[in-house]
Amino acid sequence: MKKTTGQNREITRHWRPATQAVRGGTWRSEHGETSEALFLSSGFTYDDAETVAARFAGEQDGMTYSRLQNPTVQMLEERIALMEGAEACRAQATGMAAMTTALLCQLSQGDHVVAARAAFGSCRWLTDTLLPKWGISTTTIDSRDNDAWKAAIQPNTKVFFFETPANPTMDIVDMAYVCSLAKEHGITTVVDNAFATSVLQRPMDYGADVVAYSATKLMDGQGRVLAGAVCGSQQWIDDVLLPFQRNTGPNLSPFNAWVVHKGLETLELRAMRQSENALAVGKFLEGRVPHIMHPGLASHPQHELAMRQMKACGPIFAFEVDGGRKQAHALLNALEIIDISNNIGDARSLMCHPASSTHHGMGPEGREAMGVREGLIRINVGLEDPADLIEDLDQALKAAGL
Ligand SMILES: *Cc1c(COP(=O)(O)O)cnc(C)c1O
Repeated sequence: MKKTTGQNREITRHWRPATQAVRGGTWRSEHGETSEALFLSSGFTYDDAETVAARFAGEQDGMTYSRLQNPTVQMLEERIALMEGAEACRAQATGMAAMTTALLCQLSQGDHVVAARAAFGSCRWLTDTLLPKWGISTTTIDSRDNDAWKAAIQPNTKVFFFETPANPTMDIVDMAYVCSLAKEHGITTVVDNAFATSVLQRPMDYGADVVAYSATKLMDGQGRVLAGAVCGSQQWIDDVLLPFQRNTGPNLSPFNAWVVHKGLETLELRAMRQSENALAVGKFLEGRVPHIMHPGLASHPQHELAMRQMKACGPIFAFEVDGGRKQAHALLNALEIIDISNNIGDARSLMCHPASSTHHGMGPEGREAMGVREGLIRINVGLEDPADLIEDLDQALKAAGL
């Protein structure tokens, strides 16, 4: 295999995910650089006019303009697809660009979407506000309930859209059931896999058609850049997603793509260690707080399903404290190590109060329907020693009178 140009996919696609995370999609320039090259270039030049014509006619591979393709971004797309077990991937500027693109590229006026009620706040804005404004109706359901998915199907249902685990209540969707139900009805499933990533869960193994990402979270994993990605079949990416993306331009910058490359190299190590740490912190909090929503603990009503679908529980879980918003804020304010931050997936432990931050925009009724109560706190457990995190939580709970 030539090492200085593109890889032979016939060989590389057989590599295991940990190998893909470090080497998949690598494309070396004539300099033979070790780390992926950063092609910070908006445009490209050509030796002759015939080459331009051939590339624009789709008769020759090669770069034309960074809204259409960029070598650094393309390497990342290849790597994410290989890790996911997907035929193709397109990187996006942010997770929300990925969700918006994944939905709008395939929906038209008169279509219907069934979406999970528990979801990232902006994903709910897409389904509750944006899509209806453009004549696309949506039904939001309790995604834990298999029968609710079935009951919501209409003759014009085009897409099922959900997260699992879901933000922030950690609801789990039975992917094998929901994806096969969708297939029976010719419905496309779009799974937002930001909480798990392909290291912990591969929705396509359960029949998902499209997997969309906020790569800002675990993939970067170090709180540096916003990024997103959409994975699907080659045909869906080429025929459905690409015409939308190339003309609307939600593209990822090469610099941010390069940073995400660096994140992917350590993704598996981080995701597995952070899951272990999240389990240790969860075990400490269980019994100490009135309610905990943690897919890795047997007390989670869908623990078995979660662990069947996921390799480990992931770094994120939620719990409730007595005393509502006041005590939740008091707990956050008393933390000494864990930062108050609404980000997740970071190597640093972060905590937030969804009702007054990520899910503020939904209003009290929307939050109540989703189970986002005033005493709910979400935590992202990082790579610190869990014993220090437990001591920090213990002293902060005491300081808050909890
Ligand atoms: C963060 C997040 C998003 C949005 O991603 P951005 O990169 O912030 O645009 C979408 N879905 C889930 C589940 C998220 O956690």
